[in-house]
Amino acid sequence: MLVKCRKCNKKVERNEAFKVVVGGKNTYYCNEDEYNEILRNKELKDEAYSYIYNIFGYKVTNTCIYKEVNELVDVFGYELLLSYLKENEVYLTSVIQGKDFPKEYGKIRYFAAILKNSLADYVNISGNSNVEHEKCIEYDLPEVKYKRKKKRRNLSDIEAEVGD
Ligand SMILES: [Zn+2]
Repeated sequence: MLVKCRKCNKKVERNEAFKVVVGGKNTYYCNEDEYNEILRNKELKDEAYSYIYNIFGYKVTNTCIYKEVNELVDVFGYELLLSYLKENEVYLTSVIQGKDFPKEYGKIRYFAAILKNSLADYVNISGNSNVEHEKCIEYDLPEVKYKRKKKRRNLSDIEAEVGD
C-alpha cells in the first residue's frame, strides 16, 4: 500500500516509510531525515514568529503575515530570516512601532517589504564574497527576482484575502 509523504508529497510504500503517530493518527515520511527537517523547520518557524510578534509588540493574528512570511521563506529560508530578525530586532521594532499605520495589513506589507529588500542584501553580506564590486553585482539579482514576483500579485487579491 502506498502512502503520501507529508514533506514532499511523494508516494511511498507504507512499510518502507518513516511513520510518526500524531494525535492517534499515522503520518508518513520518506525517511527520518525528512521528518527531522520538518521538525527543525517548525522550530525555526516558531522562533521567527516569536521575533516578529516582539517586533510588532503583540501577537499578529492577521493572516496576511503568514502569506508574506511564506513568500520570504520560499526565497530565503527560515534560517536566514531568523538570523536577520535576531540581528536587527531593535531596528525593526523601532521602524514598525515608530510609524503610524491606518491599517494593520499596511504595516505587515511594509514590514515584509523591508525584509525582502534587506534579506537580499543580507544574503550577500553573509555569503562568501568580500570583494566590494562583486557584492554590488550579486546584490542586483535577488532584487530583480523579487520585483517580478511582486508584479504578479494585485492589491484586490490581498484585500480579498485579508477581508477587512
Ligand atoms: Zn518525502
